[in-house]
Amino acid sequence: MTGNQRIHTQAEPYKIKVVEPIKMTTIEYRSKCIEEAGYNTFLLRSEDVYIDLLTDSGTSAMSDNQWAGMMLGDEAYAGSRNFYELEKAVRDVYGFKYIVPTHQGRGAEHIMSQILINKGDYVPGNMFFTTTRLHQELAGGKFVDVIVDEAHIPSNEFPFKGNVDMDKMQKLVDDVGADKIPYVSLEGCVNMAGGQPFSMANLQDLKEFCDKHNILIMLDATRMIENSYFIQQREKGYGHKSVAQILREICDLSDGCAMSSKKDHLVNIGGFLAMNDEEFFRKAKAMVVVYEGLHTYGGMAGRDMEAVARGIREATETDDHVAARIRQTQYLGNRLKDEGVPIILPIGSHAVFLDAKAILPHVDQDEYPAQRLAAELYVESGVRSMERGNVSSGRDPETGKNRRPNLELVRLTIPRRVYTNLHMDVAAEGVFAMMERRNSIKGLKFTYEPEMLRFFQGRFEPVDLV
Ligand SMILES: *Cc1c(COP(=O)(O)O)cnc(C)c1O
Repeated sequence: MTGNQRIHTQAEPYKIKVVEPIKMTTIEYRSKCIEEAGYNTFLLRSEDVYIDLLTDSGTSAMSDNQWAGMMLGDEAYAGSRNFYELEKAVRDVYGFKYIVPTHQGRGAEHIMSQILINKGDYVPGNMFFTTTRLHQELAGGKFVDVIVDEAHIPSNEFPFKGNVDMDKMQKLVDDVGADKIPYVSLEGCVNMAGGQPFSMANLQDLKEFCDKHNILIMLDATRMIENSYFIQQREKGYGHKSVAQILREICDLSDGCAMSSKKDHLVNIGGFLAMNDEEFFRKAKAMVVVYEGLHTYGGMAGRDMEAVARGIREATETDDHVAARIRQTQYLGNRLKDEGVPIILPIGSHAVFLDAKAILPHVDQDEYPAQRLAAELYVESGVRSMERGNVSSGRDPETGKNRRPNLELVRLTIPRRVYTNLHMDVAAEGVFAMMERRNSIKGLKFTYEPEMLRFFQGRFEPVDLV
């Protein structure tokens, strides 16, 4: 902010000190690349990508302060100084008592699921996330979607599509009994719903319900800073509070969190599990040493923990960072919306999601329209996006059938502090160009289908080739 009411443009709260050149390629070259990658954008080489909107995970630009912290890595096996910096940052900002570092979010999900879930338990959540649900299932649990119905309708503009539907919670308790529900998994800026926040009022209702039934609330805090910003912007009574205050209020209503620092914390690797219960902490410490590393590094180098500690503070010290970050997502989203491209509304926190069912209504969901659309966008523009639909949802473990989720999406995800709005313009024009030939775009079929998390390594060929 300039502090001058007559200046309306809000620019980034940073300037650029180091740059990384990127390669421009041709349509012909990219057609070859995507074919070699089995029409899976995860299998492209990054050097063949012009603008990389695959994910906001681990792709942030670190600050000079974070890089300086990397030089202060204390690479002691045990008791690294950087661990204590990290622990202090989590306690100060999130307010949880205990922290167990892990190499990234799924490391924390693994430990949390194994400790809290018993075979035959049910784990309600505000929509699934790929790795989160898989760890719940591997621990013998069954995920139950309790997000509000609005979240499943791309064009519905409800401002808190991340909310938990309390009737669905009540129904689950009635059906299976509260003692079969160890915790609710509550995600901020729900990724699979399009980066949609929950409201504080909803969390307060959930807390009351869970206290009554003796159910824990475990946050998926991956994008909780961004969720806090939306509460500030959209929820009555929060406009005057800082993002840091709102974040703290959320954490105070919960029992702990699994965190992928690769998102909100502006680092390339890292994560942790945090909680207030001592017994849970003791169990998590015993497990982390088996799967991640000693409880004072959990798979991270000392320098990585220092970068996370500094990233936590940078992302929450003022609201300027998160405001600029979400402003850029809104910029790209509004460009697409203004041209009539079907996207998920409201525009979310970290990504803009194309509605592939609306763009390719002629392609059956079992021919993976979003997967094909992501491939075509790359060929068209050199912009890499990813599928979030039938491929990502996987098969139902009981029936073996595709889950065919309501949302069949292509996600254009925006790394933090990496691209300018001119890059966003190129991405938007790539989508416009693809829209012009959408009627001739067909589907895909698997040539290799991995059993778990198939979207990462699966390979495809176009149905129009055979
Ligand atoms: C990325 C992510 C995870 C998993 O974290 P990793 O660091 O990739 O292991 C969990 N939940 C959500 C919502 C995420 O976006």
